[in-house]
Amino acid sequence: MAKKALITGLTGQDGSYLAELLLTQGYQVYGMVRRSSSSSFERISHFSDRIEVIPGDLLDQFSLIDAIEQTQPDEIYNLAAQSYVPLSWTQPSLTAEYTALGVSRLLEAIRRCKPSTRFYQASSSEVFGQPDESPQTERTAFRPRNPYGVAKAYAHWMTINYRQKYDLYACCGITYTHESPRRGAEFVFRKITRGAVQIKLGLATELRLGNLEARRDWCHAEDVVAAMWLMLQQDAPDDYIIASGETHSVRELVDCSFSYLGLDYQKYVSVDPEFYRPDEEVQLVGAIDKIRADLNWRPKYSFQQLVESMVDYDFKVLSEL
Ligand code: GDP
Repeated sequence: MAKKALITGLTGQDGSYLAELLLTQGYQVYGMVRRSSSSSFERISHFSDRIEVIPGDLLDQFSLIDAIEQTQPDEIYNLAAQSYVPLSWTQPSLTAEYTALGVSRLLEAIRRCKPSTRFYQASSSEVFGQPDESPQTERTAFRPRNPYGVAKAYAHWMTINYRQKYDLYACCGITYTHESPRRGAEFVFRKITRGAVQIKLGLATELRLGNLEARRDWCHAEDVVAAMWLMLQQDAPDDYIIASGETHSVRELVDCSFSYLGLDYQKYVSVDPEFYRPDEEVQLVGAIDKIRADLNWRPKYSFQQLVESMVDYDFKVLSEL
C-alpha cells in the first residue's frame, strides 16, 4: 500500500518541492491548508490534481486532530510557520501561536491520534541567532535574536521532548538559507539573479545592494527536502543540520550571476545603505559532518549550479514577458 504523507505549508517553496519528491516516490500526498490562507497555489499548480488538500490550521487543535484522523498519515512534515522575521517583531504573539504553539498542538494530535506517525519539524538556523561558534553543529547553543528564532527554538525543544517522553519518531532538521526558482524576489539570492537578468534584457540599468561582503550558507531547496525525507526513513529519529557546509559572499553571488550572462557586475551594481544590515559578525554556516556520516546526504547542487539554474529560470520567465 502506498505510504501517506501530510505536509503543512504545502504552498510554500519547501512544501511544493517536498510534495513533488513524495509523489515521485509513490506516496499519497495530503497538504494541510488554512481556509483563510492567502497564499497562492502557483507553486503547486502543475501537480495539484495529484494531491489532496485537507483543511486545517495550526491555531486550531481540533482541526489537527481531524486532519490526522482523516488521513492516517505515516509521515507528517511541518513546514508551516509565520516565517517572516520583520513581521515576528510587529506580531510576536501571532508568530508564537503559529511557529511555537502550533507545533505543540501538532505533537499532541499525533500522540493522541496516531503515535506511530513519523514527524519532521522544520527548525531554522535562526535558532542560533548570534552563535558562539562557526560553523554551527547540532550541539551549538541556541541564542535566537528575534521572535521568530525564539518560537523556532521552542518548537525544536518540544519536538525533542515529545520524542523522549512519548517515544515518538519525531525529529528536527535545522536548515540554513535555501533557494530555488520558487523563492521570493525579496531575498538577496533571487534579487540578484533576477536583477542580473533584467539588466541583460535591458529591463533595468542598475542593481542596488547592501553589504557585498556578507557571507551565507546557500543550498538548493530540492537538496533540502531530500534530506527531510531521508531523516524520516531511518531506524531511529535524530536531529540534523541541513546546509551546504560552505559560505559564499554576496559579491561572489553577484559575480557568478553576471559573468554567467556575459556581464561585468562592476558596471551595474551599486551599494545602497538602505540594504545594509547591522551586526553580522558571526557567520551562519552549518557543519554537515553528522548528516553526511549518518544519512550519506550531501547537496547535489554546487553553488555555481544553483546560481546558474536560477539565472536560467529568471531568463526564461523574463524573456517571455
Ligand atoms: P534573510 O537574512 O533571511 O532576509 O536572507 P537574504 O537571502 O535576503 O540574505 C540576506 C543577506 O544578504 C544578509 O547578509 C544581507 O546583509 C545581505 N545583503 C546584501 N545586499 C542585500 C540586499 O540588497 N537585500 C537583502 N535582502 N540582503 C542583502
